[in-house]
Amino acid sequence: MKKGQPNSWQRSAQWREISRAAIRRWNAKRASLPKCGARRKRDGEPCLNLAMANGKCRCHGGRTPRGDQYRQIQWPNGSAPDAERKLAAKLKRAERNRRAKERRLAAMTPEKRAAHEKWQRDHKPGPAADRVRRRANLKAAAEFRAISERADARPLSPELLALQAERERIEAERDRVLRQIENNKPVGVFG
Ligand SMILES: [Zn+2]
Repeated sequence: MKKGQPNSWQRSAQWREISRAAIRRWNAKRASLPKCGARRKRDGEPCLNLAMANGKCRCHGGRTPRGDQYRQIQWPNGSAPDAERKLAAKLKRAERNRRAKERRLAAMTPEKRAAHEKWQRDHKPGPAADRVRRRANLKAAAEFRAISERADARPLSPELLALQAERERIEAERDRVLRQIENNKPVGVFG
């Protein structure tokens, strides 16, 4: 039998009846499944393809990963028959995007470049929990900085000044003693 040609079972009336029933079942189910609401280009109406988990079809961002996979390249499934071709295409596109980004960066003015780098620093991708933690850390650090700057601006009381002088004196004395010990250390077996 030639490959791709239906065999005698697939040409039988019974097989056709089973297939028709399966398609009818699927069409009945399809009508009740959630649809993509993106605007389609041909007439501006909603797309109505089957929606994926995020409410959009696979052509309208349904396959765009979320969370820690956001903005990460999604490699093709290795067991797919055309995995090699897909991988080559992905790598080619990634390289083209990298070169385009390089050109954009090279064409930027210094101010634009600085703004771009600041945005990149402040908008690190990653899991939502990580981003929340980073934001909290930045906020705490800014508050700490503000508090310590205010503390520095405050005039020191005479008692505090005396204590500071005393501490510096003790530290100098300690360093002097340590140096003395270091200098008097025996050197080798005949020291
Ligand atoms: Zn769509």
